[in-house]
Amino acid sequence: MSEELELFRENVRRFVEAEVIPDYEQWEKDEIFPRELWNKVGEQGLLCVDIPENYGGFGTDFLFSMVIQEQFARANCGAVGGPMAVHSDIVAHYVLNHGSEEQKQHYLPRMVSGECVGAVAMTEPGAGSDLQGVRTTAKKDGEEYVINGSKTFITNGQHCDMVIVVARTNMDVPGSRGTTLFMVDTTTPGFQRGRNLEKIGLHASDTSEMFFEDVRVPASAILGELDKGFVVLMGELQRERLALAIGGVAAAEGVLAETVEYVKERKAFGAPIAELQNTKFKMAEVATDIRIHRSFVEECKRLFMAGELDAATASMAKVSCTEMQGRVADTCLQLHGGYGFMREYGVSRAYVDARVQRIYGGTSEIMKELISRSVLA
Ligand SMILES: Cc1cc2nc3c(=O)[nH]c(=O)nc-3n(C[C@H](O)[C@H](O)[C@H](O)COP(=O)(O)OP(=O)(O)OC[C@H]3O[C@@H](n4cnc5c(N)ncnc54)[C@H](O)[C@@H]3O)c2cc1C
Repeated sequence: MSEELELFRENVRRFVEAEVIPDYEQWEKDEIFPRELWNKVGEQGLLCVDIPENYGGFGTDFLFSMVIQEQFARANCGAVGGPMAVHSDIVAHYVLNHGSEEQKQHYLPRMVSGECVGAVAMTEPGAGSDLQGVRTTAKKDGEEYVINGSKTFITNGQHCDMVIVVARTNMDVPGSRGTTLFMVDTTTPGFQRGRNLEKIGLHASDTSEMFFEDVRVPASAILGELDKGFVVLMGELQRERLALAIGGVAAAEGVLAETVEYVKERKAFGAPIAELQNTKFKMAEVATDIRIHRSFVEECKRLFMAGELDAATASMAKVSCTEMQGRVADTCLQLHGGYGFMREYGVSRAYVDARVQRIYGGTSEIMKELISRSVLA
């Protein structure tokens, strides 16, 4: 890690410790963190850090953005770090890489400051893994498009000010050739937020349904080209999947560190449980599992920075690191005994929050499908 990156890491760590951890449990109980936190992280310079300076960003690189992701995950604050990653690492990069100059000037500086919170709405009640099944439509009417449909499971659904909506613009061809992305301001008439969904984990993040009823947007709201939405989606997958993998490794490192402290303190049969052979072996296994995946994501980071991270390798990272995160959280919870099942102990949150990592951003099964294609090619 360069000196500059190390300094930044320390700043993010201190911010999480001072401004996030003290209120985190309350936000979990509220099932949403406050909207003002977006402005606070914006002021602190923690949003969209690798967006170029001419769009209000800091012109750093992917590694800086991943330091943020890692520090929130390591501190067991995924319900804030995850939504920030959707905003900074997904939505902002869709806009940067595929937006018109006008769209970039309009949205990016406000996304950097936290004034405009971004979301991306692909999933529908009837279409998740198979996005070709999207039923939301955008029909041309004069110079405008009229969007109708509904979405579900949308991260930042309650707080977002702009949502990138995946909609069918041509029903006569397969979805991959007839889908378009639209940037919709949430003040547009006909847009309605649904419920903030009740989840088993990541309670402090807002995940919602969204409804679009005759939502009229100008043609200038199209992101990328008409009917080429899949090109945009595919182009950004490597970054999204690698970011999830990196978060998974950092979360596993965090829960291991906490468990090391616990097993040294907790006594059974007159001695710390750290002295039991089972504990030693479990800790050895967990540490080895993490180390292997840390090496892999570091390699993937280098490949990504060099523009050489292919789809299969990014999928390998996503599936293997998130599955490892689940294994590690489960083992660490077991070593906490009954206390591990209590919300008061961080390990219980690490365990439930880890579960969704194998589902969103492409399920483990879909990752294996993609990897198998390159293996069997
Ligand atoms: C907390 C949370 C946040 C989310 N945030 C967002 C967001 O911001 N934006 C957004 O658009 N979406 C979001 N999602 C949705 C998420 O991306 C989807 O849930 C995910 O892609 C899976 O889709 P699905 O739920 O419809 O499951 P399905 O696609 O119905 O899958 C059900 C099961 O079938 C398996 N399966 C499906 N197809 C295959 C196949 N070809 N081969 C083998 N197995 C298969 C799956 O792996 C899974 O086990 C979020 C979800 C959650 C839970």
